[in-house]
Amino acid sequence: MAERTQVGIVGAGPAGLLLSHLLARAGIDSIVIEDRSRDYVENRIRAGVLEQGAADMLDEAGLGARMHAEGQFHDGIEIRFQRRGHRIDFPSLTGGKRITVYGQQEVVKDIIAARFAVGGTIHFEVSDVAVRDFDGDKPRIVFRKDGQPSEIECDFIAGCDGFHGICRLSFPDGVLTAFDRDYPFAWLGILSESPQASHELIYTHTDDGFALLSTRSPTLQRYYLQVAPDEDIGEWPDDRIWAQLQARTALADGSFRIPEGPILQKGITPMRSFVVEPMQHGRLFLAGDCAHIVPPTGAKGMNLAVADIRNLTAALVAFYRSGDQRLLDGYSARCLRRVWKAQRFSWWMTTMLHLNPADSPFDKHRQTAELDYVTGSEAAMTALAENYVGLPFNEPEL
Ligand SMILES: Cc1cc2nc3c(=O)[nH]c(=O)nc-3n(C[C@H](O)[C@H](O)[C@H](O)COP(=O)(O)OP(=O)(O)OC[C@H]3O[C@@H](n4cnc5c(N)ncnc54)[C@H](O)[C@@H]3O)c2cc1C
Repeated sequence: MAERTQVGIVGAGPAGLLLSHLLARAGIDSIVIEDRSRDYVENRIRAGVLEQGAADMLDEAGLGARMHAEGQFHDGIEIRFQRRGHRIDFPSLTGGKRITVYGQQEVVKDIIAARFAVGGTIHFEVSDVAVRDFDGDKPRIVFRKDGQPSEIECDFIAGCDGFHGICRLSFPDGVLTAFDRDYPFAWLGILSESPQASHELIYTHTDDGFALLSTRSPTLQRYYLQVAPDEDIGEWPDDRIWAQLQARTALADGSFRIPEGPILQKGITPMRSFVVEPMQHGRLFLAGDCAHIVPPTGAKGMNLAVADIRNLTAALVAFYRSGDQRLLDGYSARCLRRVWKAQRFSWWMTTMLHLNPADSPFDKHRQTAELDYVTGSEAAMTALAENYVGLPFNEPEL
C-alpha cells in the first residue's frame, strides 16, 4: 500500500492527533499511524490536568463540548505539610485562570471521533515503523499494516511517538544532545472507584514521603504515593496502599479521611526529566514526549505536547499558505524556551514535595522552609500559580 499526504504523523497520542485535527481545520492533509489499537489508546490512563491555555486551545479547535460537560474546573490546589493544608487560589493570583481536570484518554477519544467525523485517516495497529529520507524534500514513513509492507510519502514527518518511539532515535548520529535527570523515587499510582476526597488536588509532604490526591471524575479517583524507584508492585496490596494514603494525607486535627473504594488499576511510574535538542532535523519534527518528558508533579506532560503542536501547526500553516519557512526553521528554538521553563517548574515541584533519602538534616530544614515560604508569601504563591495554570504560549517571532 502506498499513500501520499502533506504531513505524515507517527503516533496517535495527544500530540499526533491534535496536530492532525488542527492541520485539517487549516486545509492541510495528514495521515496518522499508530502501533497500538484504537481501543488501547482510548483507554490508556495517564495525565488529567489541562492548563488554561491548553483547554482554551481545545475549545477553539471545536473539541471542547464533552470537556465542558464532563470535565471539572479547579480554581486551586492544596499543599499540605506538617499535617496542615494551605490552599493556592489560582484565579486571584493569575488574573482569572484555572485548570481543567479531564482525562488524557478522553481528549484522545474526542480527537479521534473528530478526525473520523470528517473522513480523517488514522491507521491503527501498524508495525515495523521507520522514517526515511527526511534530509531531502520527499520524506517517507514505511511500516506494515495487516502484515503488508506500506508506505506514506509526504512533505513533512511529525514524530509524535512518545518517549519510547522511533522518530527521535532516527536522527543521524551527532545531531541530538540529550539532557536528563533521574530522581531517587517513583510514583505508585492507583485508579479507584470511590467518591472524591476533595474537590481540588491535594499535594502532601510527610516524613513517610509524598502523596497526591487527584481525580478523574466524581466517582473515579487517581491517587499517587512516592515509592522507591525499584519498588515491587507485588509488595503493595490494596490495604497497604490505603493505609499509606490515609497516613500521608491526615490532618493534625484528624478531620480528613479519604473515602476508600475498589482499586481498578495500579502501577509504578518512574520519575525522569529529559529533553533533546534540537527538536527537528531536515523535514522531521519532534513534538511531545518523544522530545521531552517531565516528572508528573507539575502536571505538564500533556500540556507541553499541546504547546509544541500549537507551534508546529502555525509553522506548517505558514509554509503551506505562503511558502514561508522561517517558522519551521525556528520551531525547535521556540518550543524549547517554554519546554525548559516547564522542566524547571516540574523539577522544582518535585524536589520541594518529595522526601529525598539522600537529604541531609540541613536539606530537610531548607525544604520545610521552602514549603512554608511558598504557602505564606503571595509572591511565591503567584509564581507557583502562574506556572501551574500554564505560562503564555510563545508567540512566533517573525
Ligand atoms: C505511564 C505514564 C503515566 C503518566 N501520568 C501522567 C500524569 O499523571 N500526569 C501528567 O501530567 N502526565 C502524565 N504522563 C505524561 C503524559 O501522559 C504525556 O506527556 C503525554 O501522553 C504526551 O503525549 P504525546 O502525544 O507526546 O505522547 P504519547 O501519549 O506517549 O503518544 C505517543 C503515541 O505514539 C505511539 N507510538 C509509539 N511508538 C510508535 C511507533 N513506532 N509507531 C507508531 N506509533 C508509535 C504510542 O502508542 C502512543 O499512542 C504520563 C506518562 C506515562 C508514560
